[in-house]
Amino acid sequence: MVLNDTVSAPHLAYKMDEFFKHESCGKCTPCREGTYWLVKVLHRMVEEGDARAGDIETLHAIYQQMAGNCFCLLGESAVMPIKSALNLFPEEFEALVHEKDKRYG
Ligand code: SF4
Repeated sequence: MVLNDTVSAPHLAYKMDEFFKHESCGKCTPCREGTYWLVKVLHRMVEEGDARAGDIETLHAIYQQMAGNCFCLLGESAVMPIKSALNLFPEEFEALVHEKDKRYG
């Protein structure tokens, strides 16, 4: 995967977890529900520009409940993009929340 510096970490995590959500077979709850909720929150933050206070904590909580609890490596792999993005580029997620705060006061 090759990316340039115009691709944001939240957008990359969103697109990668969208793939894992699509590929999830739905057999186990942490993967089925975890990928669903990761994509739902990330879609609102990244695509709709509607990031809210508490979204970052919610994303951390979702992947932490998935990690180590999925039946196969697909679910465990879905944790990696969002965990890495949140931990390595926290300022990009915080910027989404603050940009929205500025737009709507
Ligand atoms: S972790 Fe594997 S078994 Fe569980 S829902 Fe995802 S793809 Fe299916």
